[in-house]
Amino acid sequence: MTDTPPAATPQLPPSRSVSPNPLIVAVLLLVISLIGIGGYRASEYQGMQTLRTDAGHRLDLFAAAVDGIVNRYAHIPATIQLNEEVLNLMRSPRSATSVQAANRFLQQLNEHIGSVAIFVMNQRGIVLASSNWNHPSENFVGEDLSFRSYFVDGLAGRVGRHFAIGTTRGEPGYFVSTPIRDGERVVGVAVIKISLDQLDQAWSLLGAPALIADGNGVVILSSVPEWRYTALKPLPLDTRVEVKMSRLYNEGPIGDFPVPIDDDPGPDGQIVHMALHNSSVRPHAGFAGSYLVHGRGLQDVGWRLLIFSDLRPVRTQALGHGALAAVATGFVLLLLLVLAQRRRIVRQKLEAKELLEQANAQLESKVARRTRALTDTNARLRKEVAERQQAEQTLRAAQDELVQAAKLAVLGQLAAGITHELAQPLGAMRTLSGNAIEFMKRGNLPTVEQNLTIIARLADQMGRIITPLKTFARKSPAVPAATDLAHAVSAALFLLDQRLTKAGITLINRCEPGQAIAWCDQNRLEQVLINLIRNAGDAMADSARKELLIEASSRDDGDLELVIADSGCGLPADGTLFEPFFTTKPAGEGLGLGLAISRDIVREFGGDLRAEKRPEGGARFILQLPAAGKETNDVSAAG
Ligand code: ADP
Repeated sequence: MTDTPPAATPQLPPSRSVSPNPLIVAVLLLVISLIGIGGYRASEYQGMQTLRTDAGHRLDLFAAAVDGIVNRYAHIPATIQLNEEVLNLMRSPRSATSVQAANRFLQQLNEHIGSVAIFVMNQRGIVLASSNWNHPSENFVGEDLSFRSYFVDGLAGRVGRHFAIGTTRGEPGYFVSTPIRDGERVVGVAVIKISLDQLDQAWSLLGAPALIADGNGVVILSSVPEWRYTALKPLPLDTRVEVKMSRLYNEGPIGDFPVPIDDDPGPDGQIVHMALHNSSVRPHAGFAGSYLVHGRGLQDVGWRLLIFSDLRPVRTQALGHGALAAVATGFVLLLLLVLAQRRRIVRQKLEAKELLEQANAQLESKVARRTRALTDTNARLRKEVAERQQAEQTLRAAQDELVQAAKLAVLGQLAAGITHELAQPLGAMRTLSGNAIEFMKRGNLPTVEQNLTIIARLADQMGRIITPLKTFARKSPAVPAATDLAHAVSAALFLLDQRLTKAGITLINRCEPGQAIAWCDQNRLEQVLINLIRNAGDAMADSARKELLIEASSRDDGDLELVIADSGCGLPADGTLFEPFFTTKPAGEGLGLGLAISRDIVREFGGDLRAEKRPEGGARFILQLPAAGKETNDVSAAG
């Protein structure tokens, strides 16, 4: 069979590993982080914008409130110089009546408009009359306030506007001063002190920590009490000197604001960080972290209003939005990944299907090729079987011929013995027939009859000698049948009897008729037995003890055994005695075919032939034969 080389089988794509590519994972994480950060920044920006707008509105509101409070009475001092009592006082400050009249006027005016105090000073800064003249503890009259800036401004002919802490009771207030002119000459200064208490109550309008710093950058009002009288930026030396001189903040020390604040934070505001450990801001719960500072200048008063918007809500919201953006992005990316994965799986399945179909097609063509090859082989085998059967037939014919030749060879060897067997009755017959003729001439017919009877008996005897020879010599095909081993042994012994006796061999035949019935061809079995017995006789030619033992028995497996044992020279050393043409006999005496043919014959019946050494000396040949009634298919086939 010509085997075709194996075709390359299409390889299925290896299943790709499920573990994700670290680079892709890193890129995805980066994208998610960037979008999260972007979301955070955008939300923070939006929150800041809202915060700014909101803070702007609140500042507007508060600035309007400040403006209302501060400017409501700002024009009052200007009207004071128009008052007759005040002018009289300026002209005759020593007159008790003038003082009294001016005091009463100022008191009434103050009560009417509801300011803290209204008072007038002479050119030296001494208070000449005041609205609180009759309050022993608050009375300004006689006090020297020349150090106050509002006095200096007023005396210089300007309108003075200042925040200051009161010297008498230490109450902070907004002071507005105007010069009192007598004609063109400035003769004194009129001052009104406006309370800022209302502002302190208005902080809630802002909803966040806030402060008001004056022109010096010093916090004068704040929703956080600790921030009061702190400087937003370190004060320059001249300002500090001036502050000290004018006792604006009532001698008290000016501390520093927790964080430096820019002069102008601009429309975007300034972000400041205030630490939690700053105990000064503890009273405001949660007042720590980042704040957006927005400012608004209060033009008329020269102050600055600052509001501190907490950035935490904005950042918390931004964090939420950032996280939401990141999660949403992650979800979308995951969705895309799942879709991509699905597409890949579908593609892989299609590829695998295609490869499978290819493999199928290849397999089918391979099967077709193999089938063709097998058919060829089958045809060849059939031919070989036919040739073999033919050869077997030829072999069988050759074997039959060989068997026949071997038989004839045996017959040839037996011829002498047989001739001897026949010579005796023949001689007797001759003598008797001669005598019979003489007795017949004499007319002695009874003796003639007697002689003829003996001759007939002798002829029968000769016939008995010749009949087995005829049977033996007949060229017949092997036909197995139930064969009594004892009969076959007797027939063989009959032919060899003369020879054994002559050789002086003692025969012990233990075979009993009917004891062992084998399934074989008797004629062929006899040929085997003659061969074995003859060999035994030859082997014992030079032996002192010449004993031939023949016995039959049944084996455990149901087969029969026939043993031909001798006390001869024993088996030759090399064990090839069953090989054709192996012989130890001199040329002309042995062909070396006897045992080879014998084994073939026995095997043809489904039996076997083997040789053993006898422990007591000599050889033993064991014929194994199938028992009749137990014949195998092989045996019947062989027949
Ligand atoms: P042949 O008798 O022509 O030699 P065989 O095949 O019958 O051929 O025997 C082969 C040889 O086997 C004999 O030459 C002899 O050496 C040996 N042989 C056979 N039978 C016996 C026996 N009973 N004892 C010893 N040797 C034997």
